[in-house]
Amino acid sequence: MDWKMHLAIGFLSAALLTLVLQFLGTLPGIELLPPALLVVAFYSLLPDIDIESSVSHRAIAAILLLLAAGSILCYAVLGQQAFLWIFAVSAAIVVASKFLRHRGIAHTLRFALLASAPLAVLNPVFFLYAFVAFFSHLAADFDVRL
Ligand SMILES: [Zn+2]
Repeated sequence: MDWKMHLAIGFLSAALLTLVLQFLGTLPGIELLPPALLVVAFYSLLPDIDIESSVSHRAIAAILLLLAAGSILCYAVLGQQAFLWIFAVSAAIVVASKFLRHRGIAHTLRFALLASAPLAVLNPVFFLYAFVAFFSHLAADFDVRL
């Protein structure tokens, strides 16, 4: 499945999550929608970071490097430890991606939790959208493993 289909399925899954949150009366404010959409786009492609020649890999690696640099700057200015976590996870994924085999650890729910967890520090809703987007990728690949 190519990156465009994973993106489409990720957004469809996010729409379903939004409906569930609406039904439960826990839908976040509209101001969180734009960053949540970015989170969905990123995490619906993240598992394919293990294909070095893919569009997903190049885009995700570039975003992670920018995120790592930005989070170090934010930590230096604001001093909040959450930014150190974001830096550590981003940098670790970029370095580790050089050694990943396709549909290995990057295509597991363990990786989904590890990669999504830092967002819970910022806002639990972002964690939910990230995890659902990541899960949608695994489900679309018919390869959901712990
Ligand atoms: Zn995949």
